[in-house]
Amino acid sequence: MLKPAQTTVLFATSELYPFIKTGGLADVSASLPAALQETGVDVRILTPAYPPLLEKLPQKTPRKELFLSSIGKGAELIETRHPDTQTPIYLLNYPPYFNRQGGPYQNADGEDWIDNVWRFGLLGEAAAAIGSYETKIGFMPQILHCNDWQTGLAPAYLHFSSNKAHAKSLMTIHNLAFQGNFPPLVLPRLDLPWEAYNLQGVEFYGHLSFMKAGLQYADAITTVSPSYAKEIQTEALGFGFNGLLHERRNVLTGIVNGIHEKEWDTSTDVYLPQPYSLKQPAGKHGCKKTLKKELGLDNQDSPLIGVVSRMTYQKGLDLLLEIAPLLIAAGVQFSVLGNGEAPLEKGFRDLATRFPGRVGLNIGFDEALAHRITAGADMFVMPSRYEPCGLNQMYSQHYGTPPIVNATGGLIDTVTDYNEEPSKASGFIFYEPTAQALLTSIRQALECYKRPRIWHRIMRNGMKRDFSWRNSAQQYIEIYNRMKDSL
Ligand code: ADP
Repeated sequence: MLKPAQTTVLFATSELYPFIKTGGLADVSASLPAALQETGVDVRILTPAYPPLLEKLPQKTPRKELFLSSIGKGAELIETRHPDTQTPIYLLNYPPYFNRQGGPYQNADGEDWIDNVWRFGLLGEAAAAIGSYETKIGFMPQILHCNDWQTGLAPAYLHFSSNKAHAKSLMTIHNLAFQGNFPPLVLPRLDLPWEAYNLQGVEFYGHLSFMKAGLQYADAITTVSPSYAKEIQTEALGFGFNGLLHERRNVLTGIVNGIHEKEWDTSTDVYLPQPYSLKQPAGKHGCKKTLKKELGLDNQDSPLIGVVSRMTYQKGLDLLLEIAPLLIAAGVQFSVLGNGEAPLEKGFRDLATRFPGRVGLNIGFDEALAHRITAGADMFVMPSRYEPCGLNQMYSQHYGTPPIVNATGGLIDTVTDYNEEPSKASGFIFYEPTAQALLTSIRQALECYKRPRIWHRIMRNGMKRDFSWRNSAQQYIEIYNRMKDSL
């Protein structure tokens, strides 16, 4: 039998775990390519050569060069591999744009880099240059897989490429709220034609929108859960793109993210003080004990609620702040890790000051502590106003820490609510993003927590669930195959 030709994919991303991460995109950018690779797809990652990658990864020589017209010269393409998964990586090395201290999008003071338009314009152009086979780098992807606005220009570059034999493009939306909108005057320097700047092109309320470029010109669109795929076609959560997404609904698919099972495994997790598992759950108590000590919580045997989150309006943590004093009065403790908007950070600081020994707070970004909270807490809270997929509710179920979540996006698709199916429940869902609904749901969880048989069943149901990439990677492959058929 004739073997089908191997699928070749360039996965373009602005974040990559464990080197550069602001959120779920980094995790997905490491774990989805790895899962695709396991099924035989030749997938290679393209990402900027930020300092942590340059410092930590071996670099193959000789380096390749990619001519990019937005800078009018060549940029280096350094070949390396992901140390954990061996996925090949191309690092786009253009030091004036990427070799700087700070985050991928913002400086240390939390301000956006003022040249983000050029930085991510260049990333999109580089992805499209590889996808349109303009350069001989020894890799001709059939599929260019773009992720969020930072690579959104790539499908537009492909569309306007003079080389018509180019890759098909897939745009994955991880969060529609971040759009990459810039004044239209940037078009010439980005080397995009003015004809792109219209309603059926990249124009979005008087701006050039990188996100819109991707949504408009990609051959197919995915987003990170079936529920979010529906929600973004509505005015409430479409962020101005609902009309376009509804128009393109025939090529829009929701595929839930998976988790990186090697990184998130209670029996081997290097960040935990003690391993545990479904069969040997005892170590979870040890994790709770150590976590309480680490966060300065007093030694009472109270239920511990965990939070690991960006502190933004999206995540609904203001709702939690409203009711936290009531819960603390009822004997609950909190372990909170996050950073973001100043009023929310202040709200949690004030809470911790007001209730010493009851609220263990860490304002910052700390991968190891994120694992310890996920393991050591008894339950996990995510009151997100919207949540494209969400990873933490999957991590927490996998770690036997039932989540309490608002009914939105991927949270609906990945948590089974106690009220729907008590015997199959893996968590608790509430149905409006209000402090009262959250309080009612947490109180219900606390009632269940007092009844060990019920609680252990909820824990076990979560731990037994399959959050691996296997199913989801297969769904991506089906989309790739459909796109390949039309090459
Ligand atoms: P989002 O991408 O919207 O932030 P996700 O749930 O998809 O939300 O992914 C968030 C990822 O970032 C998870 O891996 C989570 O554990 C991690 N994370 C968020 N905040 C922190 C933090 N302060 N410290 C460590 N990890 C964090």
